[in-house]
Amino acid sequence: MTDTAKVNLLGLSPEKLIEFFESIGEKKFRATQVMKWIHQKGAESFEEMTDVSKKLRAKLETICEIRAPEIVSQNISTDGTRKWIIRTEGGQNNCVEAVLIPDGDRATLCVSSQVGCSLDCSFCSTGKQGFNRNLTAAEIIGQVWIAIKSFGPMDPSGPRRVTNVVMMGMGEPLMNFEPVVDAMTLMMHDNAYGLSKRRVTLSTSGVVPRIYDLVKRTDVSLAVSLHAPNNALRNELVPINKKYPIEQLLEACQHYLDNLSDKRHITIEYTMMAGVNDQEVHARELSTLLQDLECKINLIPFNPFPNSGYDKPSNNQTRRFQKILADDGYTVTVRTTRGDDIDAACGQLVGDFMDKTRRSQKYIELRQVSE
Ligand code: SAH
Ligand code: SF4
Repeated sequence: MTDTAKVNLLGLSPEKLIEFFESIGEKKFRATQVMKWIHQKGAESFEEMTDVSKKLRAKLETICEIRAPEIVSQNISTDGTRKWIIRTEGGQNNCVEAVLIPDGDRATLCVSSQVGCSLDCSFCSTGKQGFNRNLTAAEIIGQVWIAIKSFGPMDPSGPRRVTNVVMMGMGEPLMNFEPVVDAMTLMMHDNAYGLSKRRVTLSTSGVVPRIYDLVKRTDVSLAVSLHAPNNALRNELVPINKKYPIEQLLEACQHYLDNLSDKRHITIEYTMMAGVNDQEVHARELSTLLQDLECKINLIPFNPFPNSGYDKPSNNQTRRFQKILADDGYTVTVRTTRGDDIDAACGQLVGDFMDKTRRSQKYIELRQVSE
């Protein structure tokens, strides 16, 4: 049997891991033991699993494996931000990125779900790359596993290295539904990473039917990439809006909140592009649009990339926009760019990694912008 034919246990949801153990004639509790070894102690081989009998370890060795995606590079920024470029299986253009952003006693990991993206939002470098492939559940949870292991041997009784996860890296998570749900289930499971449901966030550009599916399967927090206060503008920026317009999207958001067992809010993401969607009239329209939804607004100044055709708004413009919404009673945060020296800012792409010259040029441009 070749390695590729082995079952990779890293990506199996708790339920699927139990099913797998039962399918090979083993007891349920073995699945729990193995799950803890993999996700809490970072085991890479069955040999390490000392409370599992030698006989079972040998059996597991022959039919399964624990295989994390390959790390192409790891960068640590002067501000503590860590960024990984990770190679997924198959294809040529097959790298994604994961970024860990420490902030006081929090550390937020930004996780990718697809190589490229089919939804082609006009301001997104991942979208420009087109769709390449979906990540497997192992490749998604593998990003969490890699991030925690980068601090040394995993220790479930030690400090948490990752406190929050946001599915805001490359790809549209709701277009890769099952693997994303499986990976997020592991993130929150007590025998795996044990993160609170409030600290695992899925960001979507608005794949409306999948929002209804999502709340049947999980109760993570939801962020929605709105970026425009009306359909005419949103159709231009986020093409999936032509299929699922704003009214349908907000209805789905309300349904999501109504079906959670606790009181939560939707995070509305709004990437601001100078002269496009950052005017006071947009802020006022947005304020009216969101008046009935329990939400917080996160403004993201556009992150420039070559030939994007967009600019980021001035700080003054961003503040004006923020103030209009805040005066109407909204909680509005502005995302600050972190890890600039390693291109870890949101919307920076792995595609450039393939083209060293262009990448270093962008690095220079970015430094000039930020200095
Ligand atoms: N596909 C999902 C999640 C990944 S994108 C989504 O669209 O929500 C994560 C966030 O970054 C989204 O809100 C997206 O609109 C935003 N984004 C993408 N490119 C950007 C850029 N160049 N500058 C600023 N924000 C960007
Ligand atoms: Fe895809 Fe999100 Fe980029 Fe749109 S913003 S192209 S949905 S990754």
